[in-house]
Amino acid sequence: MYKSVDDEIVGRLRDIVGDSNVSVADEDRETYSHDETTGLKYLPEVVVKATDTAQVAKILTLANEEKIPVTPRGGGTGLSGGAVPLFGGILLSLEKMDRILEIDTDNLMVTVQPGLITGNLQREVERHGLFYPPDPASLDSCSIGGNIAEGAGGPRAVKYGVTKDYVCGLEAVLPSGEVIRMGGKIVKNATGYNLMDLLIGSEGTLAVITEITFRLLLLPKLKVDLLVPFNDLDSAAATVSEIIRNRVVPTTIEFMEKEAIKASERFLGKQVPFDNAEAHLLIEVDGNRKEDVESEYETVGEICLDNGAADVLVADSSTSQERLWEARRAITEALEHMSPVIVKEDVVVPRSQIPALLKGIRETSERYSISIVNFGHAGDGNVHVNILKRDMPDEEWSSALPKALKGVFETAISLGGMLSGEHGIGIVKRDYLPLALDDPQIELMRGIKKTFDPNNILNPGKIFPYSG
Ligand SMILES: Cc1cc2nc3c(=O)[nH]c(=O)nc-3n(C[C@H](O)[C@H](O)[C@H](O)COP(=O)(O)OP(=O)(O)OC[C@H]3O[C@@H](n4cnc5c(N)ncnc54)[C@H](O)[C@@H]3O)c2cc1C
Repeated sequence: MYKSVDDEIVGRLRDIVGDSNVSVADEDRETYSHDETTGLKYLPEVVVKATDTAQVAKILTLANEEKIPVTPRGGGTGLSGGAVPLFGGILLSLEKMDRILEIDTDNLMVTVQPGLITGNLQREVERHGLFYPPDPASLDSCSIGGNIAEGAGGPRAVKYGVTKDYVCGLEAVLPSGEVIRMGGKIVKNATGYNLMDLLIGSEGTLAVITEITFRLLLLPKLKVDLLVPFNDLDSAAATVSEIIRNRVVPTTIEFMEKEAIKASERFLGKQVPFDNAEAHLLIEVDGNRKEDVESEYETVGEICLDNGAADVLVADSSTSQERLWEARRAITEALEHMSPVIVKEDVVVPRSQIPALLKGIRETSERYSISIVNFGHAGDGNVHVNILKRDMPDEEWSSALPKALKGVFETAISLGGMLSGEHGIGIVKRDYLPLALDDPQIELMRGIKKTFDPNNILNPGKIFPYSG
């Protein structure tokens, strides 16, 4: 087992990062005891805020020598319990390492620290006419380090891919305290095993990421959003693949069920057009030439109408676009207001299987009489499946939830999908891993963890159950 954090260890941590960056105060330990996953809370013994790579290296060296668990944390917006300090120990916050180190306009690269808030990166590069596309809905509170650790995506993944598609270089500190640098300002690299890709999506279990170099794109000059209501769910779901089949790849195709829209309206106190429709698609197209963008959104609009859309509303000003996205981004919080106990899953399937996935989820919901609200990134097959307790009695909930979860996961896997598209496994899905991965894969993964972290000090209990 692990060593407790005593006064002597706290003193050594203070020597590394300074008094003001170490806290054992109850209110700080409470603040850092949870992320955005409902119902998960474990107190760290000490909260430590690092301000540079050398400090991270010293903290991990100390923790490894003394066998103290370390949980890295960025913005604390995770939805799988990744930043929850399951075994107490040191909560290592990277929030103060939040600088943009360089915007290299010759190479179209940006180098940043891991605590940088994703939205701040986007806005800053846009001032230079550049574009960092990954856009998790939490972009104003999540950090780049957390995005890399979770393999975060966002609505724009349909056209532009996810976080991993932009990482060219990483600096990371191993659990031993050694610092490694992978890749760089290079867009190609065929030099040995790809450790950089291995760290992306490793959920803070293999190394602490301390510096990142991303490639950037040129900022598209124009974008137009379409809000498309449908009076039946299946037509909305089927339209997603119909758009792609017609050789149009919009920037985003977001899907929202009626209940998600209603929750968002109540939460924001603002009405969404056609709010009684069974489902909405929120579709964005972008580009540089007005004629191209117009032709693309007209084609998309026609496909939607041919497939049963009740209307197609066009938002071409930044104000009207922001109104639509505000409603979409508010859904997660809005659902929490409807039901404080809520389990947020994010299964992914081939996008052509979205109608079958939604049908399977509906059957699961009916079989266990449990409320499920769906929304998410339909354009890339990633559906956010929200299981709401509402006023279900505790005993019924405890019995129905695992069955419903298993039902949802099995449906996704039977359709060629996976347990998570972007939120990771963390604590909440680790027991279901064998549904998706066979034994040899899980053993290989455990072996990789052991090679990186023989003392199992870095974020133990995540991805796989704790095994000593
Ligand atoms: C309202 C809402 C909307 C969301 N929408 C999306 C979405 O559209 N797409 C999406 O992908 N996710 C979404 N999420 C989930 C969450 O925002 C992402 O998983 C995000 O990437 C987490 O970043 P964070 O900085 O908050 O990480 P944290 O929650 O702090 O940590 C997440 C994981 O990363 C590890 N970690 C953090 N920093 C480092 C580091 N420097 N080195 C190593 N490991 C580290 C932690 O140990 C933990 O395992 C949403 C969450 C909320 C609450």
